[in-house]
Amino acid sequence: MEEETHRSTTNNPFEIAQHQIDIVAKRMKIDPGIIEIIKQPKRVLEVSVPIRMDNGQLRVFRGYRVQHNDARGPFKGGIRYGPQVNLDEVKALATWMSMKTAVVDIPYGGAKGGIICNPKEMSSAELERLTRRFTSEISSIIGPLRDIPAPDVNTNPQTMAWIMDTYGAVAGIAEPGVVTGKPIALGGSLGRNEATSRGVVICAREAAKVTSTKLEGSSVAVTGYGNVGYNSAWLAADLRMRLVACSDSQGAIYNPDGLDARKVGDFKARTGTVKGYPGARQIPIDKVVELDVDFLFPCALENEITAANAASVSAKIIVEGANGPTTPEADDILFESGTFVVPDILANAGGVTVSYFEWLQNLRREYWTEQEVNAKLEARIVKAFREVYELSKKETVHMRTGAFMLAVGRIASVMQQRGLFP
Ligand code: GLU
Repeated sequence: MEEETHRSTTNNPFEIAQHQIDIVAKRMKIDPGIIEIIKQPKRVLEVSVPIRMDNGQLRVFRGYRVQHNDARGPFKGGIRYGPQVNLDEVKALATWMSMKTAVVDIPYGGAKGGIICNPKEMSSAELERLTRRFTSEISSIIGPLRDIPAPDVNTNPQTMAWIMDTYGAVAGIAEPGVVTGKPIALGGSLGRNEATSRGVVICAREAAKVTSTKLEGSSVAVTGYGNVGYNSAWLAADLRMRLVACSDSQGAIYNPDGLDARKVGDFKARTGTVKGYPGARQIPIDKVVELDVDFLFPCALENEITAANAASVSAKIIVEGANGPTTPEADDILFESGTFVVPDILANAGGVTVSYFEWLQNLRREYWTEQEVNAKLEARIVKAFREVYELSKKETVHMRTGAFMLAVGRIASVMQQRGLFP
């Protein structure tokens, strides 16, 4: 929470999300009342999560579930754990989920959850108790037709298994569709684990097409080497792109001759960090976004590219695996310098797209092959990319504004047709 107090207001993710909606509201003929509704989450739940630590001590954590908008379908979005989590971050992420599900046109709204904690210092048993108690605290507002959580930063299929089990125990029903990103044996979908990264790499390929950039042999820098960063790195390597740098919260490595994405992943799995990987130079973490590369995949947290460093970014194409890595001021600087940015709400929508496929499989009690999942994902992302690209060209705006125009337009049109209760 300390970080929060030192953060300048322009880097407050929720203010940024609201500002992004204001930008498109000015360009579109939408009832200002509807814009007012979309700028605030529909529901915010803040809970205390008391658990017994392994040493017998009782500790109380803060948790949040923010439900932003459900005009287009049930609330949907991940749950993250981390010391940096705060309510405004979760509100922003929930807002971006509503935009994301609208951009790829899946019948969901947007939500997000988070718990302020340091998962790296907690045992698996403590994380299980934390997850189960949090689930019981939010169980009255989640459900397969209400709000469907999924993994995000520092949560994974195991976390989803605990949520599903606790929800089942509390609600008295065995329903796998209450969460997505589950282990396969519990009703998870093949392809979900790499889905966000598949979307990132598909967007990189489409961006290369429209900017006449050669994909083969192109250089890539990745920030964040978690699920999204790591899988994006090796999937890019499969397309003969060349990973030259990557980072995590502890360090960054660089080798202009190329890094083996999978070997770096194995090294991190063993040591906990990419730092110290042999055959690469250590560089400061914040220098990765400034490297002279063809592609930059920011896959860490918010506010990586800001007014302070946007002018130093040399990448030709940025594909945002993370949510909110670029601030609005940075967007303008990048647009002027001709950097092509594939915005988060399109670039990382592959995850929630396959979450939707997982949920459909759960509700129908039928299961698809990985090829089927990947082919359906590819079609959705390519279609969304084309729609955003065409709209941003027509409106002479950058891809983020194009994506927000598409999303806000879709959400507002449904809200208009549904009308207002009572
Ligand atoms: N947490 C992921 C995101 O930010 C996935 C959400 C989901 O699958 O519901 O998009």
